[in-house]
Formats: sequence, structure tokens, C-alpha cells
Amino acid sequence: MLKKFRADLHIHTCLSPCADLEMTPYAIIRNAFEKEIDIIAITDHNSAENIVAAKKAAEKTEITVFAGMEITSSEEAHIIALFSDVQSVIKLQDIVYENLLPGINDEKLFGEQIVVNEKDEVLDFNKRLLIGATTLSAHEVLQIIHSLGGLAIASHIDREAFSIVSQLGFIPDDLRFDALEISPNTEKAAAELQFDMYRQFTWVTSSDAHDIRDIGKRTTGFTMKQPTIEEMRQALKNTDGRKSEWE
Ligand SMILES: [Zn+2]
Ligand SMILES: [Zn+2]
Repeated sequence: MLKKFRADLHIHTCLSPCADLEMTPYAIIRNAFEKEIDIIAITDHNSAENIVAAKKAAEKTEITVFAGMEITSSEEAHIIALFSDVQSVIKLQDIVYENLLPGINDEKLFGEQIVVNEKDEVLDFNKRLLIGATTLSAHEVLQIIHSLGGLAIASHIDREAFSIVSQLGFIPDDLRFDALEISPNTEKAAAELQFDMYRQFTWVTSSDAHDIRDIGKRTTGFTMKQPTIEEMRQALKNTDGRKSEWE
């Protein structure tokens, strides 16, 4: 039987230097529960080290946590990767860490990068320059995400920085995103006017939450059998009765 799921597919934790320190996996799950969100994706910049904690924090709830990451390509375009399982995102993380520009995070300048467990206990401070870019081109990032079985979404294409559109000026035909994301800054009608040339893509909208109050600010509805990446792939393609809707 098909069911409708409310999803916010772009949420940062305290591992992202730019995110609020209150964005612990436990707090995110509690807030998503209060807001009746069915699926969330944890999408920290160039890292997935808080995903296990978020999945554990959600164990006693009905919330599904997708294992995600927001990768910065060599063109400084942000690309969301989504998986159902932790293993795949850890494989992606290994590749991203190998290709991340060298450097140490300046906590005073960019913020702390905190790895925590499901009880909000601090496990580690990630020292890598997660805010920086990788040496992987957008084409390479998509190829890697797809080879690992994930979905690739172009982040906030309406933003004037760090989006595929802002960095390249357009979306090349051979960049096969599974969806394009519009940020909460742009209403649907305005996006339809501005991005009419990208109607061939499926669009989603997500919060890109960096603090608690923004979680669920935007959600996309998915009609599908169960909350998995495979079902979501079908919903994004509008096949077999599955569908996605910008709410
Ligand atoms: Zn971004
Ligand atoms: Zn983001």
C-alpha cells in the first residue's frame, strides 16, 4: 500500500562548522518528531560522522533517518548525497576525505565540528577543513554517489553561492541529478518562473536547517510504499504510482 511521507532531506548537525551547537542528533530527532516529519536526512558538509548517532536517536521513533552528506565539488557547488544505509555513506566519506583540500578547521573562524553520540555526549572534534571544497568535479561527485547506489540532489539551486547554477551558470545536460533542491528563500511560483528551463528535473524543497527552529521549514511529500532510497528513486521519477510533491 502506498503512503505519504513528509520529508526534510537537508539538515545539518553540530558537525557542520556553520551549524548551531544545539543541532545534536538527539535534539534534531526530538524536534522532527514534534513537527511530525516522517523522513529526515542528515547532510553535514563533507562528513557523515554524526549519522550513526542520529539513526540511534531515532530508533524509538517512527522517524526514518537517511544517511546523507552535502559534498562540495571542486567548482564549489554543493551536492546532496542520500543513502538508506550507513555503510554506503561511510564509503563515500572515505573518498571525500581523500579528496578534501588539506587544512585544519579554524574553530574561531568557522565554528566547531562536534562528533557526538545519540545521548548528546561529545565524542570528538573533527579537525578537517570540512567547510572547504573537495578536488572532485561535480561530474565525479555524481558518478561516485550513483556508483554507491545513492541519490544525488543539486543543493539550493536558487542560492547565489555554492549551487551548481551559481558556480557553472547552468546545469550541463550530462549532469544527471535525481532532483534539484529549492531553498526556503524562494517560493514555488517564483522558482517556476526563474527555473522554467529545468522543468525536466524533479524538484524538491528542504529546510537546509542549521538551527533547530528551521527544521521542517520546508518539506517535500513522497507517496511510496516505504521510506527507502529505492522507493524515493521511484517517487522522484513518478513511476508505479509513486510521486513527490512540493508542499
Ligand atoms: Zn549548501
Ligand atoms: Zn546545507
